[in-house]
Amino acid sequence: MPASVCPASWDEVADAALAGLPLSRETCLSILRSPDDALLELLAATFRVRRTYFGRQVQLYYLQNAKSGLCPEDCGYCSQSKLSTAPIQKYNWMNAEKLLEGARRAKASQARTYCIVASGRGPSDREVEHVAGVVERIKDELGLHICCCLGLLEPQQAQRLADAGVDRINHNLNTSRRYYDDICSTHTYQDRLDTLRVASEAGMELCCGLIAGMGETDEDVADVVMELQHLNVESIPVNFLHAIDGTPLETVHVLNPRYCLKVLCLLRLAHPSKEIRIAGGREVHLRSMQAMGLYAANSLFVSDYLTTKGQTASEDFRMIEDLGFEIVTTVQESTAGVVMTNTSCSHPETEAT
Ligand code: SF4
Repeated sequence: MPASVCPASWDEVADAALAGLPLSRETCLSILRSPDDALLELLAATFRVRRTYFGRQVQLYYLQNAKSGLCPEDCGYCSQSKLSTAPIQKYNWMNAEKLLEGARRAKASQARTYCIVASGRGPSDREVEHVAGVVERIKDELGLHICCCLGLLEPQQAQRLADAGVDRINHNLNTSRRYYDDICSTHTYQDRLDTLRVASEAGMELCCGLIAGMGETDEDVADVVMELQHLNVESIPVNFLHAIDGTPLETVHVLNPRYCLKVLCLLRLAHPSKEIRIAGGREVHLRSMQAMGLYAANSLFVSDYLTTKGQTASEDFRMIEDLGFEIVTTVQESTAGVVMTNTSCSHPETEAT
């Protein structure tokens, strides 16, 4: 496929995606570099793929920042890193009652998944035990799907979390292997791949995504999307850098809403049947075009991000309702793809451990 794709070709790309063919690096680049004039055609072709696997349904995720700031790592995008001077709330591990309260709020917000996130390089065994105990209580009381984002994990820690009922581990690659050292020096891209491997070997699903807008090239975005094609990732959060004052990337402002939509289309076309979630930076970068992002993505974070505010849950519900889409709270596998049930329709800035 040539670097510049004519609009009529997007249907061919969607057909290939639906036929299960992997997206080539050249096609990834063509999507990112496609003309704004062809954006609606790209979005329409992408929606055909989204609709095949997820219909008009939207999954909501609720983030709980269980431990905030105080991190010894130096991820340049993160307001919780040792380099950040951003005036965020800093606190050590929330106790079990607070984490349970968060889970109840998640349920009340129609979230399918409660995401327990902690700053830091990785948890101690004692912290893993704390999370495991809370997860067992949440599962008993609320039956929520649980995703944990705790940093780098040792195999026995991953196994303890899996045994406690953690469904999924989030650990983002964030960018390409080539660019990784430019955004973080205290751990490596390979460290992140190793944690994904131990989580998978422990039997948990993987949630792994990226951050666009950190000064990387289109090739870097294409490379991380290709890497995700090689991992058995169930869920892909797509963050757009929210350049927070006081972080090393505070002056990096390179995104616009059209480019963000192309990134979301790219992820859907590269990963037709996977959860694609519009994550941090949604309100800041998609702005008035947030709703259009759901023609590619099938998932959102509801309520706030880790250290910044999101739009209110009622605004999210209104947006979903205005689109004619519906919120789903449980998911069942089927041979044709993923079928969501328990639908209802009423009225996380960028950080990732
Ligand atoms: S992304 Fe995670 S590991 Fe990196 S600085 Fe932030 S809290 Fe620490």
